[in-house]
Amino acid sequence: MGYPGRPFSQVDIVILPILTVPNPLLTQRARPVRPDEFGEALHKRMTDMAETMYAAPGVGLAGPQVGDLRRILTCDLTEDRDEDGRREKGKALFFMCNPQIVAASKEQFRWEEGCLSVPEFWEYFERPRHVTVRFQDAHGELQEIEISDYPSIIVQHEMDHLEGITLLDRVSRLKKGRYLKKVKKWQREQERVEAEEQAW
Ligand SMILES: [Zn+2]
Repeated sequence: MGYPGRPFSQVDIVILPILTVPNPLLTQRARPVRPDEFGEALHKRMTDMAETMYAAPGVGLAGPQVGDLRRILTCDLTEDRDEDGRREKGKALFFMCNPQIVAASKEQFRWEEGCLSVPEFWEYFERPRHVTVRFQDAHGELQEIEISDYPSIIVQHEMDHLEGITLLDRVSRLKKGRYLKKVKKWQREQERVEAEEQAW
């Protein structure tokens, strides 16, 4: 499938449940990946995360969003589209462990962000337009990339998750409160539907 490192066959792929707010795991600071954790098992986990991300569909997914509190994230930074306007899967897929922003531009870039863990929520934010990110791949190899604009926003957004920060922590308390109220309403509706289904 053109993934970094050795690809896995389709049957091995596991689509992981994506946690949504207000799940407390999304507010925890993730811990660094230890040297002994790099290798095939981590590569497999990140392949599952990538497949989960593509299935959602999304362009980035961080460990805490699937309940893995390690500093890991997957992102697809391609801006190319196929004839049907779809992103070409796996073309610019990155597995980032222990990512660090080593340089960021003063120049800002404004973009409307959404998040798989904050469904039905979009908001404009400004972040540095250009960043240099240093990270290790799933096998522990050190890499560095310079990214700009939308790809830069994706990585910065995912890195927020490693600090336990979601989009809701970047908006006013009023907006956050209003959204969480909506989430409670969705949960109540969901519980009612499940109760009705059980009654049958
Ligand atoms: Zn997110």
